[in-house]
Amino acid sequence: MNLQAPAMIANFIGGKFCTPKNNKYLNNVNPATGEVYSQIPDSDAQDVEMAVAAAEQAFAGWSNTPSEERFKVLNRIAELIDENLDALALAETNDNGKPLWLSKKVDIPRASSNFRFFATGLMHFSTDSHSMEGRAINYTLRQPIGIVGCISPWNLPLYLFTWKIAPALAVGNCVVAKPSEVTPMTGYLLAHICQKAGLPDGVLNILHGTGLSCGSEIVKHPKIKAVSFTGSTRAGRDIAAIAAPMFKKTSLELGGKNPNIIFADCDWDKMIRTTVQSSFSNQGQICLCGSRILIEDSIYDRFKTEFISRAKKLFVGDPLDDSSRQGAVVSELHFNKVLDCIELAKQEGGKILLGGNAVRLTGRCANGFFIEPTIIEGLDANCRTNMEEIFGPVVTLQRFSNEAEALTLANTSDYGLSATIWTQDLTRAHRMAAHVNSGIIWVNCWLLRDLRTPFGGFKNSGIGREGGWEALRFFTEPKNICVEL
Ligand code: NAD
Repeated sequence: MNLQAPAMIANFIGGKFCTPKNNKYLNNVNPATGEVYSQIPDSDAQDVEMAVAAAEQAFAGWSNTPSEERFKVLNRIAELIDENLDALALAETNDNGKPLWLSKKVDIPRASSNFRFFATGLMHFSTDSHSMEGRAINYTLRQPIGIVGCISPWNLPLYLFTWKIAPALAVGNCVVAKPSEVTPMTGYLLAHICQKAGLPDGVLNILHGTGLSCGSEIVKHPKIKAVSFTGSTRAGRDIAAIAAPMFKKTSLELGGKNPNIIFADCDWDKMIRTTVQSSFSNQGQICLCGSRILIEDSIYDRFKTEFISRAKKLFVGDPLDDSSRQGAVVSELHFNKVLDCIELAKQEGGKILLGGNAVRLTGRCANGFFIEPTIIEGLDANCRTNMEEIFGPVVTLQRFSNEAEALTLANTSDYGLSATIWTQDLTRAHRMAAHVNSGIIWVNCWLLRDLRTPFGGFKNSGIGREGGWEALRFFTEPKNICVEL
């Protein structure tokens, strides 16, 4: 296969690449250079209608395809993603601004893992049977829902897109999917891979366009019975408002404001190394990044000095350069938002310990959107900077004097996606883990992912869980059958 990012990308409907009905396009910008490098369809309700019709036509065939055949196609998609690692990684980096080494090491390998994981999962998926002591037997079928919508964000584009699509297809659904309009390229290239892998026409339809004119039309469509969404809490709220009165199943993976809780008895070297990563990986644009660092009093000053000195060494540069630890943030809009958040932190009385500014590079990246890793202290736990998601290379430091105070600070958030706890006292780790109100807790590690585990958040971080059987259950309807003996 010779996968190449084209200057004009197309929708993928019923196995064919097609232009949007309204013939309107949006600019696609490389955030590292500031240049428009491709055009993407500005799809609307008409394209959604076509995609739903194609999915409807494909459903009977795909949902009745034997599991082993579905496994083979999905597994072939995984293999083709691996075979095209370099082209996909380059496309991801040009769209998103993340370092190329990161796309190669994390984003694209995880996309193939997603397909491989759910391909094998579907071969082992089983359902319950309940015996009523000789009187009756119940068995539960789990049937595909029909046509489902999958909508994903820009921070881990192909990684999160495939995290939804793979389980939806595995259990026999047909999909209408939309990647973020900010990072559409790998979603477009995935369509070529699916075609080559032999996925039947109409089983997966990929549309491009904005949240308002395309995403919300997917959510509204009466024939789309379930919506799996990852993105902002704001959009999640809008989606829930449309989906709830239509009684659609929704899985909403939303924002975060995650605490890193660091006790004095932690394994220092591992903690400090990992905390730099969990703060600034992907320019802080991972929903699981820890943006509120809570440090026990007795080690606060030592932590501050060493954390600043290590973060200072994170070289911000051209994402194509192997030595760059930090690339560009995703867009001009987001660049301005993050810089505004830093201004707000100053107005709220925060002291900028490191960074706080845009980085101006020369040459190819002179017009790119780069921001220094930024560390802020001295803010109240309830101020906007500590309560609102920034989603950039910006963290705050707060101190605590005991476990109870650490817990109060950790839970002082409307979000509850993830948390990291650093301590060698395992009894305390378990105690804290049980009381921190987040869906994912890491003890003495970060971003260690087993795809079988439930993934999702409490509070404003969303509803539902992805991963493992949770995802396969979400994308199926259980039907209980009771037979009197
Ligand atoms: P976003 O909500 O702006 O957009 C996400 C996707 O939804 C895009 O494809 C967009 O076009 C679409 N969309 C936007 N409004 C919509 C609407 N009203 N109806 C239907 N679709 C709509 O989010 P973003 O800026 O792309 O991504 C960043 C956000 O995603 C952050 O808040 C981050 O925390 C969150 N996120 C969460 C997770 C998680 O697993 N919980 C993972 C990654 C990112």
